[in-house]
Amino acid sequence: MKKRVFSGIQPSGIVHIGNYLGAIRNWVDMLDKYDCIFCVVDLHAMTVPYEPKEMPNCIRETLMVNMAAGLDPERCTLFVQSHVPQHTELTWILNTCAPFGDLARMTQFKEKSRQHRENVNCGLFTYPILMAADILLYKSEVVPVGEDQTQHLEFAREICRNFNARFGETFPEPQPKYTRVRRLMGVGGKAKMSKSLNNYIPLLAEPEEFFSLLRTAATDPARVRRSDPGTPEKCNIHTMHLGFSSQEDIAWCEEGCRTAGIGCVDCKKRLAGNMDHSLAPVRERYKKYADQPDYVEDVMREGARQCTEWAEKTMQEVREVTGLR
Ligand code: ATP
Ligand code: MG
Repeated sequence: MKKRVFSGIQPSGIVHIGNYLGAIRNWVDMLDKYDCIFCVVDLHAMTVPYEPKEMPNCIRETLMVNMAAGLDPERCTLFVQSHVPQHTELTWILNTCAPFGDLARMTQFKEKSRQHRENVNCGLFTYPILMAADILLYKSEVVPVGEDQTQHLEFAREICRNFNARFGETFPEPQPKYTRVRRLMGVGGKAKMSKSLNNYIPLLAEPEEFFSLLRTAATDPARVRRSDPGTPEKCNIHTMHLGFSSQEDIAWCEEGCRTAGIGCVDCKKRLAGNMDHSLAPVRERYKKYADQPDYVEDVMREGARQCTEWAEKTMQEVREVTGLR
């Protein structure tokens, strides 16, 4: 039996290279070794302000970009969170196993409530409980995420232990899985690259966009002048090279940076070319899916059908052990 993998992405904006390097690329690599479920988590995206009229389109776009990035619907299950109402049912039950004090410490809650002072809602606060429900509903054992989700995943593990201790061994404890690029910073270099901060490079950027977005991007602050040597490990551009460049180019960038043999612009130009080259097939596949709306619709429908079946099976067990009969 293959281990079950679950992960999700919010339809909260444009999918970017941070999502790709930190999460999606890991998902693609896991397709054949694990039994994979990937989800567009629209209920999570409701925790911040959004335009309801645009949501259906954003959900489809997010799904298509992920398919284009390599999530082949023939090799995994893809679905939309709200299409499987058991997620919210399990969330309520897990609420009763979730320690309040730990929730209050979540850094994502603190950051997002600063970002959206006008709407600090309870959903934003209990976001990690819904995430725990997503994972446990399918008895997932492995959760590939970026580093920003470490705290939430640790919390999901705690909820899992609490539930099992209270009602009997029901869920396996999920483990995180990371890529080489666990956390990519935004082009400003100050905050992590995020859909909701205007600091990203879109995964589907046009070829000429890569360099124009990189041109002003932050680098190692030690490299004030072209002749100042730098430390590649301190540079977000170097992190991007790790994701998109060959070993040879990475060595060239590291050596050139340390010795001031190359300037940041040279380094960025090489990176832009490599990004364009590695992402060209993603853009091509995206065009193909965009021309097949019925197929995308079928993928969503079939994913919802399959996940509802799995989710209902778990819920029957949960209702049984919790005494809700
Ligand atoms: P938002 O700003 O709306 O929260 P986001 O860019 O953080 O959007 P999410 O949908 O919240 O994207 O996260 C999807 C996945 O991408 C998660 O596994 C998350 O850990 C990962 N991820 C997001 N940003 C980064 C990043 N900058 N570096 C590495 N991984 C990331
Ligand atoms: Mg996020």
